[in-house]
Amino acid sequence: DAPIRTDFIRQIVRDDLASGKHSAIKTRFPPEPNGYLHIGHAKAICLDFGVAQEFGGVCNLRLDDTNPAREDPEYVRAIQDDVRWLGFDWHSLRHASDYFGVYYLAAEKLIRDGKAFVCDLTAEQVREYRGSLVEPGRNSPFRERSVEENLDLFRRMRAGEFPDGARTLRAKIDMASGNINLRDPALYRIKHVEHQNTGSEWPIYPMYDFAHALGDAVEGITHSLCTLEFEDHRPLYDWCVDNVDLAGNPELLEPLVARGLPKEAGKPRQIEFSRLNFNYLVMSKRKLMALVTDRLVDGWDDPRMPTLQGIRRRGYTPSALKLMVERVGISKQNSLLDISILEGALRDDLDAHAPRRMAVIDPLKLVLTNLDAGFEETLTFANHPKDEAQGERSIPFSRELWIEREDFEEVPPKGFKRLTLGGEVRLRGAGIVRCDEAVKDADGRVVELRCTLDPESRPGMEGANRKVKGTIHWVSAQHAVAAEVRLYDRLFTVPDPDNDEGGKTYVDYLNPDSRKVVTGYVEPAAAQAAKEQGFQFERLGYFVADRYDHRSDAPVFNRSVTLRDTWAQ
Ligand code: ATP
Ligand code: MG
Ligand code: MG
Repeated sequence: DAPIRTDFIRQIVRDDLASGKHSAIKTRFPPEPNGYLHIGHAKAICLDFGVAQEFGGVCNLRLDDTNPAREDPEYVRAIQDDVRWLGFDWHSLRHASDYFGVYYLAAEKLIRDGKAFVCDLTAEQVREYRGSLVEPGRNSPFRERSVEENLDLFRRMRAGEFPDGARTLRAKIDMASGNINLRDPALYRIKHVEHQNTGSEWPIYPMYDFAHALGDAVEGITHSLCTLEFEDHRPLYDWCVDNVDLAGNPELLEPLVARGLPKEAGKPRQIEFSRLNFNYLVMSKRKLMALVTDRLVDGWDDPRMPTLQGIRRRGYTPSALKLMVERVGISKQNSLLDISILEGALRDDLDAHAPRRMAVIDPLKLVLTNLDAGFEETLTFANHPKDEAQGERSIPFSRELWIEREDFEEVPPKGFKRLTLGGEVRLRGAGIVRCDEAVKDADGRVVELRCTLDPESRPGMEGANRKVKGTIHWVSAQHAVAAEVRLYDRLFTVPDPDNDEGGKTYVDYLNPDSRKVVTGYVEPAAAQAAKEQGFQFERLGYFVADRYDHRSDAPVFNRSVTLRDTWAQ
């Protein structure tokens, strides 16, 4: 049963359905295909698709491709992959470029209605005329051009007669408005650049606010959810929707027919919510791009990246992200959240769902001298301590084992609960052992422990119940599979890598230990994992079989997160 969510956005939707303002809900997720989606986008996706789903509506995926110079089909593919991975499917896949014909007719309508004009000011002059927060702007000298002249110039812009930047089409609103977005904002600019969908058909491209508002209207979006920085744009959004009035002017929708799209339109409402931001991360596409191009990470899907492709490879699950979004909630307060909220959601999700396995990442040989050389046994372990439905697995046990080097101390510090010379420890699920001898190499480094297995302490025996200080994990040396284990940690060492103190940049705060690669040994059942299967390696943390590199005969595991927050003070 889904919980009843009562955030302000769902409350608005609920009210709109109850009052009959809308009989069905339609939302959209509108990423710009100029980079990979990140954790912040997961919040927008869960909200856009989630609200539609919860209220029996639909959600479109719209690629906001109005900036052709920065966009790439590689991003388009990844965006679709990410949305599906999170468990959502779109009602209709759209592109802002599907509506270029509609946008164009809408612009001509505004010109005919005396609500838009062609302006010859340079970008710098436009800035100058715009005024400031404390100073009203001044009207462009081109503002009073006749409808005929504006139509002629705009058609010639469209025909490609003028070079980039020579002219813009601007809305005629109010240069004295307290909201700078309403000071005759540009609607169209000239850009002679190839577009991934429309080729060289258009030498002019619509500006974001115009395209976004009309895109929502064309699709009949009822609730257009976006982040808080667009709050100041909402009056312009409404201005575009109301003054073009696509629903009342169906002839403007004619270009949709040729693209096989329905001629529908509505009056959308924009509602803003706060962005998701975490400390210890950078999330701006520009900075993520720089990390990739400067080769500070191994690509967009490096498991240390906050991209959805990255954290997926790190072992994050869709349910962990949804849990995080749920816990963070929806509000209008921007804040920088502690990364432990994200990591905590992953731990909680994996603790509940991930099967347990044994693996040793810093191996030390342990020999049970009282067993025969050929001794071999199969033990049965539960896959999950709290979930019987996950069943059991077999683990081979034999005379020679690998244990974790740090689980033995020759000179134990106070309170050390693991194996010491002459001391006892429980081998998880196998019995109690006593360490008789630590064999060293020429440098004095311990290379092998010679131990005795208490024959009365085997699983199910009375003697297994006696108390020993600690329990350690192990794998059978002869049966374990050598694995590449990638130990990932936070990419940045400080909570605010974006602070620009003392001329430093986020690059100066990269964690040199954010990735360590070691060879470990995993029990056979772990090696058999499918790619992307997550596990708790007992006592070590949560790990995932690498999405690309893992193979059963050459396993590769990425550490998703440690068992506990090792960064907390
Ligand atoms: P960036 O600033 O990282 O480049 P963007 O806002 O330009 O991101 P878009 O591709 O335009 O990225 O985003 C698509 C949708 O995702 C938008 O509705 C946007 O508001 C939302 N979104 C982007 N970043 C976040 C975030 N950190 N938290 C919540 N929603 C976000
Ligand atoms: Mg954007
Ligand atoms: Mg952006």
